[in-house]
This record gives sequence, C-alpha cells and structure tokens, in this order.
Amino acid sequence: MPALSEVPRTHPRYASLMTREKLVEGVGRGITGLNGLIAQGRGEALDYLIGEVTTAPAMEAERAAAAMLLLAEGPVLSVNGNAAALVPKEMVALANKIGAPLEVNIFYRTEERVKKIADLLRGLGAGTVYGDEPDAQIPGLDHARAKAARGGIYDADVVFVPLEDGDRCEALVKMGKRVITVDLNPLSRTARTSTVTIVDNVVRALPNLISLVDEMAGQDEAELRRLLEGYDNRAVLRRSVEEMISHLTHQFSALDG
Ligand code: ATP
Repeated sequence: MPALSEVPRTHPRYASLMTREKLVEGVGRGITGLNGLIAQGRGEALDYLIGEVTTAPAMEAERAAAAMLLLAEGPVLSVNGNAAALVPKEMVALANKIGAPLEVNIFYRTEERVKKIADLLRGLGAGTVYGDEPDAQIPGLDHARAKAARGGIYDADVVFVPLEDGDRCEALVKMGKRVITVDLNPLSRTARTSTVTIVDNVVRALPNLISLVDEMAGQDEAELRRLLEGYDNRAVLRRSVEEMISHLTHQFSALDG
C-alpha cells in the first residue's frame, strides 16, 4: 500500500485507504492493538454493504444519540484503541461540546496503551480523561475488562461507547445505564443490546454527531424527550439490515447491465 501522502485524493478508495493507514499508524504508535485491525476489516466489509454512506436509519439513530447526550445528567464518552486512531479530535470535540469526561476503555488492556491514549486525548484539549487510574469494577466482567472509574463510566447515566464488545455493553446495560454505540454490524450482540445503535462508520458518525449536537442544543428539553420517546432501536436495526439487502440487490442487478 502506498504511504498516506502518496494516495491521491482522487483515488476511488481514498477514504477507505486513509482509514486503514490511520489504524496502521495507531498500531505503530502503540495506541491500537493488532486485533483492532481485524475489527476494522470486519467493519469495512459491512460498510461496503450499506454503500459506505450514512443511511437514513443511521441518521435517525444519530439524532436520537444527540438528544440522549444533550439530556443526560452525567454522560461519559468511552475511547478504545480504534477510536483513538480514527477519531481522536472528534471524540474530544464532542466531549467538550456536551461538557462530558472521556474514559479510555480498551479490550486488551495494558497500562502503557491506556496511558498513551489518555495522553493523546489530553494533548488534543480534552478536559477530564479517566481510565489510567481505575477505582471501580463493572459487575459481571473479568478483572481486566471490569476496570472503570468513579466519576467516569462507573457513575455515568449515559455512556457513548463506539466499537464496544458485546459483553461489556451488556454489563453496562445491566448496571442500568443507557448505552449508545457505533457498530457497522446491526446483528452483533453490542448492536442488539445497546439503547441506541448507530450502524455507521465511526469516521462518518462522529462528525454527524458533532453537527447534530450543535443543531439540537437550542431545542427545548420537551422536544428532545419527545424525539427519544418516539425512537425504536429494534426498528432502526431492522431497517439497517434492509438497507444492506437493498444495496446488495441493486449491485446484483447492476451485474446484468
Ligand atoms: P459483539 O461482541 O458485539 O457480538 P464482535 O465480537 O463481533 O461483536 P468486535 O470484534 O468486538 O465484534 O468489534 C468489532 C465490531 O466493530 C464489529 O461489529 C465491526 O463491524 C465494528 N466496526 C469495526 N470498525 C468499525 C468502524 N470503523 N466503524 C463502525 N463499526 C466498526
């Protein structure tokens, strides 16, 4: 693969190549785990099935997520190794806009990697960053993955956890938290367990969320609550699968043309 600077902007796979390159760089800098590359590969295959665009159901979930974050009393944004490589500035910008702390939360935890991600976020202007000094345990998870921070994820009412794994997501929901995730697989356990599932690429979802929070910050609470009451995550997941079927059907028909 050519180096980043050598990929022309006009390349038809420019966005996808840039994303890959950022993850490879993340591995090189010690913020992304090798398994993060495999997760991205799976995500890319699913992104292809929705045409690599934000679909209507994804936009609806993003709107609900923005409303939930604006209404939350103590929201927290969780950052793993892939999010740190792909959307670190956007995670910090979103956290600062809603006045929420960030918490580093990685699947294969090493203290060195947690510290590198926390330092990266602080260097980008983050306010409070938890994760490097966990002082609480999420019930139902093994020791390393249960680690959380009081004042952070452990006490949050709403947790934004892009690219979370199913077990942890389930454990957070069992604690009574509302969980917002970004996952290109509408059938994963994470997608089915979360309160709001955004079936979109994290590199599109974060800029969308930032714009939506800006746009909706002026709306009154009653209006935001009404939007959330009318939101049906199961229906949004079904429509996301339908988007994949219809995109595939369209591509299939085009093979005859
Ligand atoms: P689960 O435990 O929820 O059933 P899993 O074990 O299949 O999920 P993981 O390997 O924990 O999945 O996480 C990878 C998930 O993240 C996959 O579902 C993949 O589609 C999704 N994913 C990977 N890269 C991206 C991305 N850039 N944007 C959005 N989703 C992504």
